[in-house]
Amino acid sequence: MKLKLFVIPVICILFLNNQFTQEPDTDKKMNSYISDLMGKMTLEEKIGQLNLVAGGDISTGAAVSENIEQKIRAGEIGSILNIPFEVTRNAQELAVNKSRLHIPILFARDVIHGYSTIFPIPLGISCTWDMGLIEKYARIAAIEASANGVNMTYSPMVDIARDPRWGRIAEGSGEDPWLGSQVARAMVKGYQGDDLSLENTIMACVKHFGLYGAAEGGRDYNTVDMSRLRMYQEYLPPYKAAVEEGAGCVMSSFNVIDYLPATGNRWLLTELLRNEWGFNGFVVSDYTSINEMSNHGLGDLQTISALALKAGLDMDMVGEGYLQTLKKSLEEGKVTQQDIDQACRRVLEAKYKLGLFDDPFRYLNKERSTSDVLTDGHLKAAREVAARSIVLLKNDKQTLPLKKSGTIAVIGPLADSQRDMLGTWALTDRTDKVVTIVEGIKKAGGEKINVLYAKGANITDDPYLWDHIKPFVPPEQENKEKIISSEELINEALRTAGKADGIVAVLGESEIMSGEAASRSNLDIPESQKNLLKSLLKTGKPVVLVLVNGRPLTLTWEDENVPAIIETWAGGTEAGDAIADVLFGDYNPAGKLTATFPRSVGQIPLYYSYKNTGRPYNPGNKWNSKYLDIPNEPLYPFGYGLSYSTFEYSEINLSSDELKGNETLTATVTVTNSGKYAGEEVVHLYIRDPVATISRSVKELKNFEKIMLQPGEKKDVRFTITTEELKFYNSNLNYIWEPGEFIIYIGTNSRDVKVATVNWGL
Ligand code: BGC
Repeated sequence: MKLKLFVIPVICILFLNNQFTQEPDTDKKMNSYISDLMGKMTLEEKIGQLNLVAGGDISTGAAVSENIEQKIRAGEIGSILNIPFEVTRNAQELAVNKSRLHIPILFARDVIHGYSTIFPIPLGISCTWDMGLIEKYARIAAIEASANGVNMTYSPMVDIARDPRWGRIAEGSGEDPWLGSQVARAMVKGYQGDDLSLENTIMACVKHFGLYGAAEGGRDYNTVDMSRLRMYQEYLPPYKAAVEEGAGCVMSSFNVIDYLPATGNRWLLTELLRNEWGFNGFVVSDYTSINEMSNHGLGDLQTISALALKAGLDMDMVGEGYLQTLKKSLEEGKVTQQDIDQACRRVLEAKYKLGLFDDPFRYLNKERSTSDVLTDGHLKAAREVAARSIVLLKNDKQTLPLKKSGTIAVIGPLADSQRDMLGTWALTDRTDKVVTIVEGIKKAGGEKINVLYAKGANITDDPYLWDHIKPFVPPEQENKEKIISSEELINEALRTAGKADGIVAVLGESEIMSGEAASRSNLDIPESQKNLLKSLLKTGKPVVLVLVNGRPLTLTWEDENVPAIIETWAGGTEAGDAIADVLFGDYNPAGKLTATFPRSVGQIPLYYSYKNTGRPYNPGNKWNSKYLDIPNEPLYPFGYGLSYSTFEYSEINLSSDELKGNETLTATVTVTNSGKYAGEEVVHLYIRDPVATISRSVKELKNFEKIMLQPGEKKDVRFTITTEELKFYNSNLNYIWEPGEFIIYIGTNSRDVKVATVNWGL
């Protein structure tokens, strides 16, 4: 009898276990296919799958790959990045027809904000607060890229960034982990769709894992050091969200975490990513980030390559450390056969999921490569996203929208530039398709307006800055810079402005001034351009400042002196049309900032979700947390953005102010369009937990809704809040909520909010 009782549960457990661990049929098929294939592979061929080479002329480091053809034949290349369509086909033919086991190559590319049709830079896109639109743009990027041989994109870049000195803030979604997580999910969905093996979906590679946006001093590639709590609470959520959404690949970052480069950090790449989050795709290094571990002081190429593999890094980008040293490390017992097999299996799985073993040429359809790019539909979407990414920062006396009449002088070094509209990481070869701002204004105004143009200033006259950007500026532009002096440019601009009724000044950063390896210590508009702006303002004519740039700038002077300012980022292929849509009011701007604009570089890092100090600002008292020379507050807070209309918020109406356990709270506000224009408004919900077992942020974004209102129209915006929204990581890294008082904020941005409080007991 005893025996029976004992046996039955065991059988049950075995049965249940089997139920839960049973592989789905597709996985079973994949596993047996790959096991079969790996059974035929030599050690060299397995290591070859872990090798990623850069085949084009786009490189972001010192190393360039060599003898690619020979390596493909020898089965020594698993993946190639950033190469043109024609070369892709040749490379795939070589791999499939001339290598021993005919294993297809994975073609990756930095499709960051579009392939041929370029959308605004991601920081701009995030200002749309429109997840449907974000998914749509990623979908279009996938359609165009997959039509051109690409089956994996090194995107989304989900690094939380709170330091605009860092040029790569342009590539992400700003400072907030909750919003960043929504964007990460939307992009993974857009790229991967429901079925990765379709010819128009591509695999997403989430980067840069992890915490890369917190580089000290905003200097690229620099050290990161932060508490586990801050990681879990503020920096890791978007990577986790992308993994949960099923992203097939993760890229390790350049920076150190806990004094160990991410690329060789086992805690990060295995314990957290795989064991805690359940990631089952493959991990690729960043460009030569394995090799760079020697500069971090971790040893020679063999040591650091073994360290990376052991940490859980499967593919070596460009550095060839794996290719050159793993065999030796295996012989010397520094890595195991299982380490190599596991990495190889993960890479082969990605190829399998993409359908490359069924048809290696699935993404190489000559017809699609031209028919599926830059279509009318894609350009229309690019214009829509670009217009919605624009943030109206100031609009005194309704300077905007402009009337479609009279003469407009469009002035500035970025006003007639195609290339600078594209921004960082636009690997398109179709710069010719870009609509410049001058062109967009002319098209929109048609016969009714007269548009004049003058360059007005060099991008910069600062010799140090110029020396660092000049090598990357196209030759035509460089020549112009040499020939025309600033004085002559301003004089010409003033002559042009003299003939106009109003001035549109297009100023900011050229494409090369943000993005990778483009940190700045000064975030002002370069002096040459600011001088131009001052001269234009002195004419007494109305001036609209159109900003083109890749990061929050310091605009305190401009905010005090210019009547109207719009932030347009780098708007992509359709930038000019979209900007004209906003300038003339054909589209009423509704973009809202996703990264705080500081008053001064000295305030950085500056973000809305800060923690209270023990001595919060208190005027009249010396001993508190402040600067002597400027306020603590930013110039434009997170979530800020105006409209041509105005929106009134009612007080918050709570369904109850006493809740228990898993009850649900509804918080409602009525928003009224009190202005003259129909327009969209993003309504934000923030929560504060004022008393907890750890010090919490003063406010955390928990939800938002984007609504459209006709003039005079009202809408109730209702947020449902559960204890999920109250949760945080406590000192033991447990994700919990604690009962007590909570403050609910609803408003138009993180600063201007209505307040209500609620007690939530167990
Ligand atoms: C960047 C990555 C990029 C890679 C490949 C690196 O320098 O950090 O974001 O995906 O190059 O181009």
